[in-house]
Amino acid sequence: MAPLSVSSLPGHAMASHQSASNDRNRVLRDIPSVSAIVEQWRRMSTQPVDDRVLTATVQRVIAAARAEAEAGQPIAAGTILEQLEAELAALESSRLRPAINATGVLLHTNLGRAPVSDATARAMAETAASTVALEIDPDTGRRGGRMDEISRLMRAMTGAESTLVVNNNAAAVLLVLSALASGREIVVSRGQAVEIGGGFRIPDVLRQSGAAMIEVGTANRTYAADYARAITASTAGLLVVHTSNFRVEGFVNAPDIREVAQVANDARLPLIEDLGSGSLLRPQDFGLAAERTIGESIAAGVAVVTASGDKLLGGPQAGLICGRAALIRQIEAHPLARALRASKMVLAGVAETLRHYARGEAVAAIPVWRMIAARPDDLEQRAKSIRHRLQLGEPIATVVKTDATIGGGSLPGETLPSWGIALHLAHPDDFARMLRLGDPAVYGRINDGRLILDLRSVDPEDDVALGRVIDTALTSLKS
Ligand SMILES: *Cc1c(COP(=O)(O)O)cnc(C)c1O
Repeated sequence: MAPLSVSSLPGHAMASHQSASNDRNRVLRDIPSVSAIVEQWRRMSTQPVDDRVLTATVQRVIAAARAEAEAGQPIAAGTILEQLEAELAALESSRLRPAINATGVLLHTNLGRAPVSDATARAMAETAASTVALEIDPDTGRRGGRMDEISRLMRAMTGAESTLVVNNNAAAVLLVLSALASGREIVVSRGQAVEIGGGFRIPDVLRQSGAAMIEVGTANRTYAADYARAITASTAGLLVVHTSNFRVEGFVNAPDIREVAQVANDARLPLIEDLGSGSLLRPQDFGLAAERTIGESIAAGVAVVTASGDKLLGGPQAGLICGRAALIRQIEAHPLARALRASKMVLAGVAETLRHYARGEAVAAIPVWRMIAARPDDLEQRAKSIRHRLQLGEPIATVVKTDATIGGGSLPGETLPSWGIALHLAHPDDFARMLRLGDPAVYGRINDGRLILDLRSVDPEDDVALGRVIDTALTSLKS
């Protein structure tokens, strides 16, 4: 669009050099009318904008200009139309367009965590665009359960009798505690009364659910007997929480989950476990620290397990609640269940993700597991070929060995050997910003004054685009 100027509008004249208040009055008088600006905009722009949106935006821009004029600020020619152009352009710009995650943090919460598999993305898009048998049994034509399909898949892979899917794991924990423990007591280890991040704190969630938190043990050591001693007639259950984002080392003890389950079962109480990541694969098979899988928790006697859909499960944002059928029915019947329920797109996405596991193809098909399983040699090769294709390569860009992390509050302190491109620049922060504003956007990390683009968190299909964005930014830096 051609540069716009207020002086080209009817009724406009530049302010003269008389007294300040005269100037101000003139500036105010010279602000064009709403209809004049609307007309001018329609003549000059091809951007589709609804009439009412356009008028309202013009009114807002004019009001701001008027306020400035009244405060004695001169209004430069063109300000109003420039402002209008910026406001209307902002309506078309999307921050949710695809970005390349080169941070080396595989599950980056601020970048939307796990990208889903192609099949999952397709299932979600198709479901969104059509009507589906969400709560109808196609066989009988009668009302059927929303969760039947996912329950069947989870039962096959974890042994859980029944599964309920809600908005996210935070919602899952809140719902489970509200439904099973409101007005009663929940016993939890002092070492697990933790904050997960984003304001999610176990003591606060318990308070919100209406359950009283009975803390047992100490910050570093808790035994099964501590749980047993705290059980009273008011106890609704025992809660075990995965300390996702930190690690306690040294003189520590957490009892074996089977011992805690035994204590709960002896008292005929449910053991609830917030697993956090909720993996279906064993991280230790991939050179990472051992984590209990959902199936292992169920087998150990946990009555209800909650887990995230978009951490190590590698699916869309969701919270999975799985366990004993009678308890899941009770949870499902709580009014909050309706408020926190997952959409048809999410259910289709979770089901499609679970099918990768059911077919035994998860590591090849699910992006987060592909990234975890990537061989360092291959990452080095990819880094070298991206570096090789850069127009302005050495000495600005070098291939370096790096450490990637899982992120998303999963496997704290665990790193995976990785490779990346290091950019040696005078102002790495400025360059990082240029990459963030690139097309596609690229997110890296700054380490020791260098901007690192780590390839373990990048889909190999994005390597060429990544190189192109680096090139474009380097070129504009040189000019
Ligand atoms: C991540 C996490 C949560 C929150 O899960 P969301 O899916 O992000 O809502 C709750 N508990 C634990 C232990 C976690 O690791």
